[in-house]
This record gives sequence, C-alpha cells and structure tokens, in this order.
Amino acid sequence: MKAAVLYSPGKIRVEEVEAPTPGPGEAVVRVRAVGVCPTDLRKYVGLIRPPTPIILGHEVSGEIVDIRDEGHGLRRGDRVVINPFIYCYKCRYCRLGRYNLCLNLGGIGGVAEHGRRLDGAFAEYVKAPVKNLYRVNPAVPFESAALTEPLAACLNSLRRCGVREGSTIAIMGAGPMGLMHLQLSKLFGAATIIVSEPLAHRREKALELGATYVIDPKREDPIRRVRQLTDGLGVDVVVVATGGEAEAACVMEAMRMVARGGVVNVFAGTWPPAQVTLNPNLIHYNEVSLIGSYLSTPEIFSEALRLITSGRVDPGRIVSDIYPLNEIEKAFQRAISREALKVEVKP
Ligand SMILES: [Zn+2]
Ligand SMILES: [Zn+2]
Repeated sequence: MKAAVLYSPGKIRVEEVEAPTPGPGEAVVRVRAVGVCPTDLRKYVGLIRPPTPIILGHEVSGEIVDIRDEGHGLRRGDRVVINPFIYCYKCRYCRLGRYNLCLNLGGIGGVAEHGRRLDGAFAEYVKAPVKNLYRVNPAVPFESAALTEPLAACLNSLRRCGVREGSTIAIMGAGPMGLMHLQLSKLFGAATIIVSEPLAHRREKALELGATYVIDPKREDPIRRVRQLTDGLGVDVVVVATGGEAEAACVMEAMRMVARGGVVNVFAGTWPPAQVTLNPNLIHYNEVSLIGSYLSTPEIFSEALRLITSGRVDPGRIVSDIYPLNEIEKAFQRAISREALKVEVKP
C-alpha cells in the first residue's frame, strides 16, 4: 500500500510499504479521510521528536476491509471512525474512568507514545483494535466523520467548563478547534459567544458559524472589548485555543476577561513551552477556576459521534482543503500557513 512515512523533521516520503494485517481483536480500515492535526505538524517540523520512521495521522474515517473479531457487531464493509487512543484499562486513571489521563496512553499515528503504538492513517490502510472502532451512518460524509476525535476534545473542554444555556463565553483563537468550540457552544445554548482571532478569514468563518461578536486582537484590546460586551462583568467561560506560541500570553489575558465565578480553560498545548505570570488574587477573590482539558474519553467520543450523526453539529463545515496522499507535504504546508482552516487528506 501507499503510505506517507516521516523519517526525520521535514523529511516525509510517500512510498510503498507492507499493508497491515489484523491480529486477534483487530481490524484493518481502508482510509477515506484523515484530518491534519497540529500535533502531526509539530512532529513534521520537529518541535516534538517521536521515534522514526513513523506514519502519522489519527483523525480518521474509512471502511472495514478485514476484521478478526466479531462480537462487537462490526463487519467488513462497515463505515467507521477510529478512536485513536489506546488505553491500558489498568492504571489508576483508567479505573476512575478518566481514560484520557491514562498513565500508559498509546495510540495510532503517534498521537500518544506511552503505551502501545500503531501506525497512523496517512496511508491507504490502517490497523486498529476493534473496540476503538465506531460504526458511522453511511449518510455522514467521511470528511465530517473523520473529525469526531477533535470534536470530542472540544466537547470534553466545554463539559469541563460547564457551558450551558445562557452562558457567556469567549473563545481565543478561531482555528479549527476554536471553531468547533463555537459550533458546540451554539448547540449548548450559550447566549453570547465572543471570538478573538487575528486572521480576518477566520473571523469571517466564526461569524458565519454564529459567533455573536468577533474581535481582532491586533487592533483592539480583547480584555476591554470583552468587558464592554458583557456590561463590565466579563464572560463565564474563556477557552484558550490559540495553541503554539500565543497560548501562554492568552492565558494571562483570559484571566482578566473572565467573570467572577468563571472558568478559564487552557485547551491547547504551548509549543515551544513557555511560562505564565499570574496574580493569584484574581483567582482567590473572584473564585475563578483555571483548568485544563486534554483529549477525550470513549464516552465523550461516542457522544461527539452522535452529535455528528444526528446532524446537530457538522465539523465538515470547517474543512477548507482536501489533498490526495501524494500531496501530503502540500497539505502540511497549507495547514502551517494558517490560510486554511481544517485540512484533510484523502488517500
Ligand atoms: Zn488531532
Ligand atoms: Zn490507563
């Protein structure tokens, strides 16, 4: 089969490799759509150095072509999405049901490296444990289904933030993850959704998806603007979804735009790592919660898939570019350029 193999930072080659075969309890999926995730890009540019060679890609939908375990009600020919995380089911966190915090978290396509590692989905075929497969209604396009995993991470984030009917929320960063937070916040009935984003095309997309207000942080002070828009109170929830270098500075800003009793969620990773300076009085006197959220659990993953299947959220609306596998480097460059929204590859 054809696969995109990463050998070292910046060096990726599309070449013939041996197709995977399923072991007991495993299935092989013909990949139909796979999202390009910032974590793939960090490995591509060398900010994170996984053991190489490696086939990346973990946001994946496709069809089962070979399966060695019945009993899960899945068959050859079924359309599926893959939960790319492999949990140990034994550690303290797995026993508490907090699978995303598993001490031995493994995964597909280099998405987690502490446990079992399987090749990823920038390839014609990918292998996965059967219990990681979720059947998808054929009416759902592969491009939308492939985004179940990132949508689940946003769902986990908003659940932890307690967003509900009538909430006010500020989302910092309108990249794919920020926009999915926006879609879900609408669904949860948030009354005011403010999106701060320096790129004009992303602000436009945010308005198209139902943002109440957008802010260009290069031209106006987002803290002042958020307070203005909320009668001086600030918002109930701030999700910092800028990632990369901006994340740390935005966390400090978020602490000053959150309302009393509110929540600030550090949603994205900071690469390269950076420090934050905090005034603890903001936390103490205002009873502000500063939290994090990371990945999702199998339960939240199925819930995200239900939202997609029922048509209540369509993450496919933020897919801007689709490339064939041969052009994976173009796909990566396009995603790095930020001119795109979500980029996908169709092997
Ligand atoms: Zn991802
Ligand atoms: Zn575990």
